[in-house]
Amino acid sequence: MFIEISNLKKGYGYDGNRVEVLKGISAGVEKGEICVLLGPSGSGKSTLLNIIGGIDQADSGYIAIKGEKTIDMNEKKLTRYRRKHLGYIFQMYNLIPNLNVKENIEVGAYLSDSPLEINDLLKTLGLYEHRHKLPNQLSGGQQQRTAIGRAIIKNPDILICDEPTGALDYKTSKEILKLIEDVNTKYGNTVIMVTHNDAIKNMADRVIKIRDGEIRKNYINEEKVCAQ
Ligand code: ADP
Ligand code: ADP
Repeated sequence: MFIEISNLKKGYGYDGNRVEVLKGISAGVEKGEICVLLGPSGSGKSTLLNIIGGIDQADSGYIAIKGEKTIDMNEKKLTRYRRKHLGYIFQMYNLIPNLNVKENIEVGAYLSDSPLEINDLLKTLGLYEHRHKLPNQLSGGQQQRTAIGRAIIKNPDILICDEPTGALDYKTSKEILKLIEDVNTKYGNTVIMVTHNDAIKNMADRVIKIRDGEIRKNYINEEKVCAQ
């Protein structure tokens, strides 16, 4: 199993005010899968994603990537793991305002041994002709494409996506999801995506439904497999 999630528990607060946000989550994700984490607001999706992404710690249980437990890594090793193996895409693009599209993407190649070729990537993203523009000259969709470029230029093993289309209209959202699928097909990155939008499960290889900190459903999306 590429990513192993074992009996993860996480809570906040103490004694009478204690809230258990993850109540023992176990699941596995295979290499190259698009895994969509679905569930209502407050169900624990982002908390789970942040633990997988090494930006939050569980109280107990563990995440293992290729057999290596993140809980066993010291801070230095965890930082290297995040830089080398993970790409993050959020609802907010957080582009650097005085750098153009190409430069914003190149920021993500920092410390990478084997970055993707920038012009090839710009073409995949549909941004080649916009490469000299600044973020404030771009549409929301183009800004998110740039943020995706910044996340994938180092060709990370895992792409962590938290509501990547949360700030976009319906049509642009579909284009961005298609782009994430194209990236997954072309570069083979494993994608873990959090959303509360049930329609997004169509693009998933695996669907994990969470409610109240527990997994309610975990299945391979047969429709996607059949469609290919
Ligand atoms: P989702 O992504 O499914 O909306 P979250 O993982 O963001 O859910 O949050 C799950 C629950 O954990 C929510 O009830 C939220 O209020 C609580 N929570 C998240 N982060 C914190 C925190 N830092 N302190 C206290 N409670 C938190
Ligand atoms: P919906 O919410 O659209 O009614 P669910 O996602 O709740 O459907 O799925 C209900 C059950 O049906 C799941 O536990 C799963 O076993 C099965 N299922 C639903 N959609 C698929 C699919 N595309 N591929 C494989 N199994 C599916």
